[in-house]
Amino acid sequence: MTARPPLTIKNPITGDAIGSAPNSTPDDVQAAVTRARAAQPDWDARGAQSRARLLRLWGDALWQHRAEVIETIRRETGKNETGAFLEMIVLDNVIEYYAKHTPRLLRPQRRRTLFPVVQYARVYYRPHGVTGFITPWNYPYLNALMDAVPALAAGNTAVIKPSEITPFTAQHAVSLAYRAGLPRDVLHVVTGDGATGAALVDEVDYISLTGSTATGRTVAARAAERLIPYSLELGGKDPLIVLDDVDLDLAATMTLQGALENAGQVCMSTERVYVLDAIYDRFIDRLIHYARQLIVGPQAGYDVHVGSMTNEREVQRCETQIADAVGKGAHVVFGGQRHPDLGPLFFEPTILVDVDHSMDVMRDETFGPLIPVMRVRSAEEAIRLANDSQYGLSSAVFSRDLKRGEAVACRIQAGDTSVNRTQFVIGTPSLPSGGQKESGIGRRGGPEGLMRFVTPKAVLVDRMWISRPTLTLLDPLLYRLLIIQRALRRWLPFITP
Ligand code: NAD
Repeated sequence: MTARPPLTIKNPITGDAIGSAPNSTPDDVQAAVTRARAAQPDWDARGAQSRARLLRLWGDALWQHRAEVIETIRRETGKNETGAFLEMIVLDNVIEYYAKHTPRLLRPQRRRTLFPVVQYARVYYRPHGVTGFITPWNYPYLNALMDAVPALAAGNTAVIKPSEITPFTAQHAVSLAYRAGLPRDVLHVVTGDGATGAALVDEVDYISLTGSTATGRTVAARAAERLIPYSLELGGKDPLIVLDDVDLDLAATMTLQGALENAGQVCMSTERVYVLDAIYDRFIDRLIHYARQLIVGPQAGYDVHVGSMTNEREVQRCETQIADAVGKGAHVVFGGQRHPDLGPLFFEPTILVDVDHSMDVMRDETFGPLIPVMRVRSAEEAIRLANDSQYGLSSAVFSRDLKRGEAVACRIQAGDTSVNRTQFVIGTPSLPSGGQKESGIGRRGGPEGLMRFVTPKAVLVDRMWISRPTLTLLDPLLYRLLIIQRALRRWLPFITP
């Protein structure tokens, strides 16, 4: 296939072009997958300890070059320095977690058999082969790499297709992997748009997508046609419930944190806030009080709370959702406008009140700094409204009564819920995170995030002590043993599998 015009990459803060990247064709994708496939048996044969050692070296190289990495992330996303650092530290913990635990988690497991003395069995965990990763622009470092790490640790090779808006961060991180000693063909980056992503689905043995729900449906349909395993990390509309016994300052500041990290362009950002009637007015006062103290801007420094948004489409979505809400009776009590004095894609942190579920801002995903806050009469009503969504990614509950908070958390239909925090599950490498309903399939993080990259293979060994040459599967001795086993299994549990 003939080459396609390259992608032009822009700095969202200035709007200036900062470089270009190939818009890879299906042939380019096939070539990368072919090399990754040829390299996979050797990578697998190295063993989990040796792979873990190389992954740690890569993690150390990324950490040593963190100033460069942060600069690369900021140049193509416009996010603030805190956000770029958070991407780094979370991935650093993910690498350490899988380097430490994978050798143990993938050790072959001994299992009991029907006839314990004459047979034994083990389950081996075998890699799929070549794994593919299609990733979005909002966390070009973390989302591009955090799933590839356990896949590599498990003995797969990997091909990453980063977002066409932010390809440089993944390219840079993978170049550091080579410098740290990772064999070149074990990990590839192919840059390109959605068509490049589609070509990757056609070639690999496992596909992981982090992206929108619409793209998730397309990728899942193709994966189903090819009968390859897949996981999908998709959109969200995360609720946050404020019960009536909270520390108001803590709940208000954490609501702002949860809603404004990466200017709200987070699948797991706080997008709907339900506050109990008894404290609603005081909560809104505190929220506005702290919102007034936010520093929004393009400059470096960990004291900047909100940076630029990354693409115009999402800024327009914020404006459309605000207009829809105001048209249906909502009021903007803070923000609500673009910030053209700071850059073309800056948007003010925005607090909306008098909202309800007839409004798009309470139902559709928002990828921007909007905080709609709804008054509810009871915890029961808050739970019902939190669950009234096609999404189910992350969520949060605030309460001084930890038992009450945990009980409410268990009733929210979402992949994870934090009590008195937001977005901490994704940053805790031992915990599974991911979506239910239209927010996705599969989990990243924890043992669950590793085991999706292997297929269990059972090996049963018969010692041949009771075997006889016979043409039937059910020879008389086996028949008798099965009947005896059936009669005794409740009384002698150790003889049963
Ligand atoms: P997107 O779906 O437009 O693109 C995601 C990736 O898919 C990109 O690399 C794109 O090139 C590729 N793609 C597009 N069409 C494709 C196709 N037909 N076949 C294969 N690949 C294709 O999403 P986006 O705008 O880049 O990212 C924002 C979305 O991602 C939001 O909905 C957000 O909630 C979601 N997201 C989810 C998570 C999570 O962990 N659940 C994390 C970050 C972002």
